[in-house]
Amino acid sequence: MVAVQANYYRVRLDRVPPVPPSLPPTLLCTRRSRLKKLGQRVMVGDRVQVEEADWQGQRGAIAAVLPRTTLIDRPPMANADHLLLVFALAEPTLDPHQLTRFLVKAESTGLPVTLALSKQDLLEPQQRTDWAQRLGQWGYVPHLFSLYAPPSLAPLALGLQNRVTIVAGPSGVGKSSLINALIPAAELRVGAVSGKLGRGRHTTRHVELFELAQGGLLADSPGFNQPELGCDPLTLGQYFPEIRQRLQQQVCQFSNCLHTDEPGCAVRGDWERYPYYQLLLQEVQIQHQALEQSRDPEAVVKRKVQRSGQVNYEPRLAQKKYRRQSRRSQRQSLQTLTGSPGEWTETESGDPDRD
Ligand code: GDP
Ligand code: ZN
Repeated sequence: MVAVQANYYRVRLDRVPPVPPSLPPTLLCTRRSRLKKLGQRVMVGDRVQVEEADWQGQRGAIAAVLPRTTLIDRPPMANADHLLLVFALAEPTLDPHQLTRFLVKAESTGLPVTLALSKQDLLEPQQRTDWAQRLGQWGYVPHLFSLYAPPSLAPLALGLQNRVTIVAGPSGVGKSSLINALIPAAELRVGAVSGKLGRGRHTTRHVELFELAQGGLLADSPGFNQPELGCDPLTLGQYFPEIRQRLQQQVCQFSNCLHTDEPGCAVRGDWERYPYYQLLLQEVQIQHQALEQSRDPEAVVKRKVQRSGQVNYEPRLAQKKYRRQSRRSQRQSLQTLTGSPGEWTETESGDPDRD
Protein backbone atom coordinates (compact mmCIF):
# COMPACT_ATOMS: atom_id res chain seq x y z
CA MET A 1 0.00 0.00 0.00
CA VAL A 2 1.64 3.24 -1.10
CA ALA A 3 -0.64 6.01 0.11
CA VAL A 4 -3.86 6.85 1.90
CA GLN A 5 -5.77 9.11 -0.42
CA ALA A 6 -9.21 10.65 -0.20
CA ASN A 7 -10.55 7.83 1.99
CA TYR A 8 -8.97 5.09 -0.13
CA TYR A 9 -5.83 3.06 0.16
CA ARG A 10 -3.72 3.29 -2.98
CA VAL A 11 -2.22 -0.14 -3.64
CA ARG A 12 0.60 -0.65 -6.13
CA LEU A 13 0.27 -3.99 -7.90
CA ASP A 14 3.08 -6.50 -7.93
CA ARG A 15 4.42 -6.80 -11.46
CA VAL A 16 4.64 -10.54 -11.69
CA PRO A 17 5.26 -11.46 -15.33
CA PRO A 18 3.44 -11.92 -17.62
CA VAL A 19 1.76 -8.58 -16.90
CA PRO A 20 -1.42 -8.08 -18.93
CA PRO A 21 -1.14 -4.71 -20.74
CA SER A 22 -4.50 -3.64 -19.35
CA LEU A 23 -3.33 -3.94 -15.74
CA PRO A 24 -3.31 -0.52 -14.06
CA PRO A 25 -0.22 0.32 -11.96
CA THR A 26 -2.28 0.97 -8.84
CA LEU A 27 -5.76 0.29 -7.48
CA LEU A 28 -7.81 2.42 -5.13
CA CYS A 29 -8.91 0.07 -2.38
CA THR A 30 -11.17 -0.02 0.62
CA ARG A 31 -10.48 -2.20 3.65
CA ARG A 32 -12.69 -5.16 4.36
CA SER A 33 -14.72 -4.60 7.52
CA ARG A 34 -13.53 -8.04 8.57
CA LEU A 35 -10.05 -6.52 8.97
CA LYS A 36 -11.44 -3.67 10.96
CA LYS A 37 -13.19 -6.04 13.35
CA LEU A 38 -9.89 -7.81 13.84
CA GLY A 39 -8.30 -4.47 14.63
CA GLN A 40 -6.02 -4.91 11.63
CA ARG A 41 -4.70 -1.56 10.41
CA VAL A 42 -3.42 -1.02 6.90
CA MET A 43 -0.30 1.14 6.79
CA VAL A 44 1.77 2.65 4.04
CA GLY A 45 4.38 0.06 3.15
CA ASP A 46 2.12 -2.88 3.97
CA ARG A 47 2.01 -5.78 1.55
CA VAL A 48 -1.65 -6.64 1.09
CA GLN A 49 -3.91 -9.08 -0.68
CA VAL A 50 -6.55 -7.50 -2.87
CA GLU A 51 -9.93 -9.06 -3.68
CA GLU A 52 -12.60 -8.16 -6.17
CA ALA A 53 -10.21 -6.21 -8.33
CA ASP A 54 -12.03 -4.17 -10.93
CA TRP A 55 -9.23 -3.47 -13.41
CA GLN A 56 -11.30 -1.10 -15.52
CA GLY A 57 -12.49 0.99 -12.64
CA GLN A 58 -9.10 0.54 -10.90
CA ARG A 59 -10.80 -0.38 -7.63
CA GLY A 60 -10.47 -3.26 -5.21
CA ALA A 61 -10.78 -4.28 -1.58
CA ILE A 62 -7.96 -5.17 0.82
CA ALA A 63 -8.69 -8.61 2.22
CA ALA A 64 -5.49 -9.33 4.16
CA VAL A 65 -2.29 -7.69 5.39
CA LEU A 66 0.85 -9.82 5.14
CA PRO A 67 3.20 -10.03 8.15
CA ARG A 68 5.40 -6.95 8.58
CA THR A 69 9.16 -6.98 8.85
CA THR A 70 9.39 -3.54 10.50
CA LEU A 71 6.98 -0.99 11.93
CA ILE A 72 7.74 2.72 12.44
CA ASP A 73 5.37 5.00 14.34
CA ARG A 74 6.32 8.40 12.92
CA PRO A 75 5.87 8.45 10.03
CA PRO A 76 3.46 5.52 10.38
CA MET A 77 4.96 3.00 8.04
CA ALA A 78 5.45 -0.74 7.62
CA ASN A 79 8.31 -2.72 6.08
CA ALA A 80 10.82 0.15 5.74
CA ASP A 81 14.38 -1.21 5.80
CA HIS A 82 16.48 1.96 5.56
CA LEU A 83 16.39 5.55 6.78
CA LEU A 84 17.97 8.41 4.84
CA LEU A 85 18.49 11.46 7.01
CA VAL A 86 18.98 14.64 4.97
CA PHE A 87 20.50 17.80 6.41
CA ALA A 88 21.74 20.88 4.55
CA LEU A 89 25.36 21.96 4.89
CA ALA A 90 24.12 25.57 4.67
CA GLU A 91 20.84 27.47 4.29
CA PRO A 92 19.77 26.54 6.91
CA THR A 93 23.08 26.46 8.79
CA LEU A 94 24.00 22.97 9.91
CA ASP A 95 23.43 22.86 13.65
CA PRO A 96 25.24 19.91 15.28
CA HIS A 97 22.82 19.77 18.20
CA GLN A 98 19.75 19.59 15.96
CA LEU A 99 21.52 17.07 13.75
CA THR A 100 22.28 14.95 16.81
CA ARG A 101 18.64 14.99 17.86
CA PHE A 102 17.55 13.80 14.41
CA LEU A 103 20.30 11.19 14.28
CA VAL A 104 19.29 9.81 17.67
CA LYS A 105 15.65 9.67 16.61
CA ALA A 106 16.67 8.00 13.35
CA GLU A 107 18.84 5.44 15.19
CA SER A 108 16.00 4.70 17.60
CA THR A 109 13.92 3.28 14.74
CA GLY A 110 16.38 0.39 14.58
CA LEU A 111 16.72 0.84 10.81
CA PRO A 112 20.14 1.28 9.19
CA VAL A 113 20.76 5.03 8.92
CA THR A 114 22.43 6.87 6.04
CA LEU A 115 23.32 10.53 6.48
CA ALA A 116 23.18 12.78 3.42
CA LEU A 117 24.27 16.43 3.46
CA SER A 118 22.74 18.60 0.78
CA LYS A 119 23.68 21.96 -0.79
CA GLN A 120 27.40 21.28 -0.88
CA ASP A 121 27.57 23.91 -3.64
CA LEU A 122 27.18 26.53 -0.90
CA LEU A 123 30.42 25.57 0.92
CA GLU A 124 34.10 25.88 0.10
CA PRO A 125 35.90 22.56 -0.46
CA GLN A 126 37.79 22.95 2.83
CA GLN A 127 34.56 23.42 4.78
CA ARG A 128 33.12 20.28 3.20
CA THR A 129 36.17 18.26 4.18
CA ASP A 130 35.94 19.62 7.72
CA TRP A 131 32.32 18.50 8.07
CA ALA A 132 33.01 15.08 6.61
CA GLN A 133 35.87 14.60 9.07
CA ARG A 134 33.88 15.85 12.02
CA LEU A 135 30.97 13.53 11.26
CA GLY A 136 33.44 10.71 10.80
CA GLN A 137 34.41 11.28 14.44
CA TRP A 138 30.76 10.86 15.34
CA GLY A 139 30.74 7.51 13.57
CA TYR A 140 29.05 8.48 10.30
CA VAL A 141 30.22 8.54 6.70
CA PRO A 142 28.04 11.27 5.19
CA HIS A 143 27.16 11.55 1.49
CA LEU A 144 27.74 15.17 0.49
CA PHE A 145 25.81 16.23 -2.59
CA SER A 146 24.33 19.10 -4.50
CA LEU A 147 21.38 19.04 -6.85
CA TYR A 148 23.34 21.45 -9.05
CA ALA A 149 26.09 18.87 -9.52
CA PRO A 150 24.21 15.71 -10.57
CA PRO A 151 27.22 13.34 -10.42
CA SER A 152 27.31 13.89 -6.64
CA LEU A 153 23.92 12.14 -6.42
CA ALA A 154 25.10 8.86 -7.92
CA PRO A 155 26.59 7.21 -4.78
CA LEU A 156 23.51 8.21 -2.81
CA ALA A 157 21.16 6.76 -5.44
CA LEU A 158 23.13 3.54 -5.46
CA GLY A 159 22.58 3.16 -1.73
CA LEU A 160 18.81 3.39 -2.23
CA GLN A 161 18.58 0.63 -4.78
CA ASN A 162 16.11 -2.16 -3.93
CA ARG A 163 15.50 -0.79 -0.46
CA VAL A 164 12.44 0.75 1.14
CA THR A 165 13.82 4.04 2.41
CA ILE A 166 12.24 6.65 4.64
CA VAL A 167 13.56 10.11 3.77
CA ALA A 168 13.67 12.27 6.88
CA GLY A 169 15.07 15.61 7.95
CA PRO A 170 14.01 19.13 8.88
CA SER A 171 12.18 21.27 6.34
CA GLY A 172 14.10 23.41 3.91
CA VAL A 173 17.08 21.08 3.57
CA GLY A 174 16.05 19.92 0.08
CA LYS A 175 14.24 16.60 0.70
CA SER A 176 11.50 17.31 -1.81
CA SER A 177 14.06 18.54 -4.35
CA LEU A 178 16.07 15.37 -3.83
CA ILE A 179 13.07 13.05 -4.22
CA ASN A 180 12.05 14.92 -7.39
CA ALA A 181 15.57 14.61 -8.77
CA LEU A 182 15.54 10.86 -8.13
CA ILE A 183 11.90 10.32 -9.13
CA PRO A 184 10.66 13.07 -11.48
CA ALA A 185 7.12 11.60 -11.38
CA ALA A 186 6.89 12.33 -7.65
CA GLU A 187 6.35 16.03 -8.44
CA LEU A 188 6.74 17.09 -4.83
CA ARG A 189 6.36 20.79 -4.21
CA VAL A 190 9.68 22.42 -3.51
CA GLY A 191 9.81 25.06 -0.82
CA ALA A 192 6.25 24.19 0.16
CA VAL A 193 5.25 25.23 3.64
CA SER A 194 3.77 22.15 5.18
CA GLY A 195 0.98 22.33 7.69
CA LYS A 196 -2.42 21.07 8.61
CA LEU A 197 -4.15 23.45 6.26
CA GLY A 198 -2.00 22.58 3.28
CA ARG A 199 -4.15 21.43 0.40
CA GLY A 200 -3.52 19.92 -2.97
CA ARG A 201 -2.08 16.70 -4.22
CA HIS A 202 1.31 16.86 -2.61
CA THR A 203 0.79 18.99 0.44
CA THR A 204 -0.65 16.03 2.31
CA ARG A 205 0.97 15.41 5.67
CA HIS A 206 0.69 11.68 5.22
CA VAL A 207 3.53 9.48 4.25
CA GLU A 208 3.59 8.36 0.62
CA LEU A 209 5.80 5.87 -1.21
CA PHE A 210 7.43 6.58 -4.59
CA GLU A 211 9.06 4.05 -6.85
CA LEU A 212 12.69 4.40 -7.96
CA ALA A 213 13.45 3.57 -11.59
CA GLN A 214 16.39 1.37 -10.57
CA GLY A 215 14.22 -0.53 -8.08
CA GLY A 216 13.31 0.41 -4.55
CA LEU A 217 10.83 2.72 -2.85
CA LEU A 218 11.21 6.12 -1.22
CA ALA A 219 8.89 7.42 1.47
CA ASP A 220 8.45 11.10 1.96
CA SER A 221 7.98 11.57 5.69
CA PRO A 222 6.20 14.74 6.71
CA GLY A 223 5.79 13.38 10.24
CA PHE A 224 9.47 13.44 11.08
CA ASN A 225 9.96 17.19 11.33
CA GLN A 226 10.19 17.77 15.07
CA PRO A 227 11.45 14.57 16.56
CA GLU A 228 10.47 13.96 20.16
CA LEU A 229 12.90 11.49 21.55
CA GLY A 230 10.80 9.45 23.93
CA CYS A 231 13.04 6.52 24.74
CA ASP A 232 14.12 4.75 27.89
CA PRO A 233 17.04 6.67 29.51
CA LEU A 234 19.00 3.42 29.69
CA THR A 235 18.76 2.86 25.94
CA LEU A 236 19.65 6.40 24.82
CA GLY A 237 23.35 5.58 24.70
CA GLN A 238 22.79 2.88 22.10
CA TYR A 239 21.78 5.56 19.62
CA PHE A 240 25.25 7.17 19.70
CA PRO A 241 27.82 5.31 17.55
CA GLU A 242 30.56 6.78 19.78
CA ILE A 243 29.01 5.09 22.84
CA ARG A 244 28.42 1.80 21.05
CA GLN A 245 32.03 1.82 19.99
CA ARG A 246 33.34 2.62 23.48
CA LEU A 247 31.23 -0.12 25.03
CA GLN A 248 32.62 -2.61 22.55
CA GLN A 249 36.12 -1.92 23.82
CA GLN A 250 35.37 -1.64 27.53
CA VAL A 251 32.25 -2.03 29.63
CA CYS A 252 31.02 0.24 32.41
CA GLN A 253 31.32 -0.99 36.00
CA PHE A 254 27.54 -0.98 36.48
CA SER A 255 25.27 -2.59 33.93
CA ASN A 256 22.61 0.11 34.38
CA CYS A 257 25.13 2.92 33.94
CA LEU A 258 23.67 6.12 32.51
CA HIS A 259 27.19 7.39 31.80
CA THR A 260 26.86 10.51 33.93
CA ASP A 261 28.51 10.38 37.36
CA GLU A 262 28.89 6.66 37.96
CA PRO A 263 32.39 5.42 38.82
CA GLY A 264 34.02 3.04 36.40
CA CYS A 265 32.14 4.49 33.42
CA ALA A 266 33.70 3.64 30.07
CA VAL A 267 31.68 6.23 28.17
CA ARG A 268 32.04 9.54 30.01
CA GLY A 269 34.84 11.55 28.53
CA ASP A 270 36.18 14.16 26.26
CA TRP A 271 34.38 13.46 23.01
CA GLU A 272 32.51 16.06 20.98
CA ARG A 273 28.95 14.90 21.43
CA TYR A 274 29.16 13.85 25.09
CA PRO A 275 27.55 17.17 26.20
CA TYR A 276 24.71 16.52 23.71
CA TYR A 277 24.27 13.06 25.17
CA GLN A 278 23.97 14.60 28.64
CA LEU A 279 21.37 17.13 27.50
CA LEU A 280 19.29 14.53 25.70
CA LEU A 281 19.55 12.21 28.69
CA GLN A 282 18.05 14.89 30.94
CA GLU A 283 15.25 15.32 28.45
CA VAL A 284 14.35 11.65 28.20
CA GLN A 285 14.63 11.25 31.98
CA ILE A 286 12.02 13.96 32.49
CA GLN A 287 9.77 12.37 29.86
CA HIS A 288 10.27 8.96 31.36
CA GLN A 289 9.36 10.19 34.82
CA ALA A 290 6.21 11.85 33.49
CA LEU A 291 5.28 8.57 31.87
CA GLU A 292 5.81 6.60 35.07
CA GLN A 293 3.64 9.09 36.92
CA SER A 294 0.86 8.89 34.40
CA ARG A 295 0.94 5.11 34.59
CA ASP A 296 0.86 4.82 38.35
CA PRO A 297 1.16 7.97 40.44
CA GLU A 298 1.56 6.01 43.71
CA ALA A 299 4.44 3.87 42.59
CA VAL A 300 6.87 6.51 41.49
CA VAL A 301 10.43 5.59 42.28
CA LYS A 302 13.45 7.76 42.47
CA ARG A 303 16.79 6.76 41.03
CA LYS A 304 19.62 7.51 43.41
CA VAL A 305 23.31 7.14 42.83
CA GLN A 306 25.17 6.43 46.08
CA ARG A 307 28.70 7.65 46.79
CA SER A 308 29.86 4.15 46.03
CA GLY A 309 28.31 4.42 42.61
CA GLN A 310 25.61 1.90 43.48
CA VAL A 311 22.32 2.84 41.90
CA ASN A 312 19.20 2.47 44.03
CA TYR A 313 15.56 2.95 43.27
CA GLU A 314 13.61 4.42 46.19
CA PRO A 315 9.92 5.17 46.48
CA ARG A 316 9.22 8.85 46.33
CA LEU A 317 7.49 9.54 49.68
CA ALA A 318 5.64 12.75 49.23
CA GLN A 319 4.59 13.91 45.87
CA LYS A 320 4.86 17.67 46.16
CA LYS A 321 2.63 18.42 43.28
CA TYR A 322 0.85 16.02 41.08
CA ARG A 323 -0.75 17.59 38.11
CA ARG A 324 -3.36 15.48 36.49
CA GLN A 325 -2.81 14.93 32.82
CA SER A 326 -5.72 14.84 30.45
CA ARG A 327 -6.50 11.42 29.04
CA ARG A 328 -5.58 12.67 25.61
CA SER A 329 -2.11 13.85 26.53
CA GLN A 330 -1.57 10.70 28.57
CA ARG A 331 -2.33 8.58 25.58
CA GLN A 332 -0.16 10.70 23.35
CA SER A 333 2.83 10.50 25.62
CA LEU A 334 2.33 6.78 25.92
CA GLN A 335 2.35 6.45 22.19
CA THR A 336 5.45 8.56 21.80
CA LEU A 337 7.32 6.83 24.55
CA THR A 338 6.43 3.27 23.80
CA GLY A 339 6.87 3.75 20.09
CA SER A 340 3.48 2.20 19.47
CA PRO A 341 1.86 3.45 16.30
CA GLY A 342 -1.38 4.07 18.15
CA GLU A 343 -4.35 5.29 16.21
CA TRP A 344 -2.47 7.96 14.41
CA THR A 345 -3.24 7.33 10.77
CA GLU A 346 -6.73 6.14 11.30
CA THR A 347 -7.95 9.13 13.24
CA GLU A 348 -6.13 11.52 10.94
CA SER A 349 -7.03 9.99 7.65
CA GLY A 350 -10.54 8.76 8.00
CA ASP A 351 -11.36 5.15 7.68
CA PRO A 352 -11.62 3.74 4.20
CA ASP A 353 -13.73 0.70 4.94
CA ARG A 354 -16.59 -1.14 3.51
CA ASP A 355 -18.35 -4.45 3.96
P1 GDP B 1 12.38 20.30 1.95
O1 GDP B 1 11.59 21.23 2.81
O2 GDP B 1 13.40 19.56 2.75
O3 GDP B 1 11.55 19.40 1.11
O4 GDP B 1 13.25 21.24 0.96
P2 GDP B 1 12.93 21.68 -0.53
O5 GDP B 1 13.17 20.57 -1.48
O6 GDP B 1 11.57 22.31 -0.55
O7 GDP B 1 14.08 22.76 -0.77
C1 GDP B 1 14.25 23.92 0.01
C2 GDP B 1 15.08 24.94 -0.77
O8 GDP B 1 16.43 24.46 -0.93
C3 GDP B 1 14.54 25.20 -2.17
O9 GDP B 1 14.58 26.59 -2.39
C4 GDP B 1 15.51 24.45 -3.07
O10 GDP B 1 15.62 25.06 -4.34
C5 GDP B 1 16.82 24.58 -2.30
N1 GDP B 1 17.78 23.49 -2.63
C6 GDP B 1 17.51 22.17 -2.72
N2 GDP B 1 18.63 21.47 -3.05
C7 GDP B 1 19.62 22.37 -3.17
C8 GDP B 1 21.04 22.26 -3.48
O11 GDP B 1 21.60 21.20 -3.73
N3 GDP B 1 21.75 23.43 -3.47
C9 GDP B 1 21.17 24.65 -3.21
N4 GDP B 1 21.95 25.73 -3.21
N5 GDP B 1 19.85 24.77 -2.92
C10 GDP B 1 19.08 23.67 -2.91
ZN1 ZN C 1 28.88 4.33 31.75
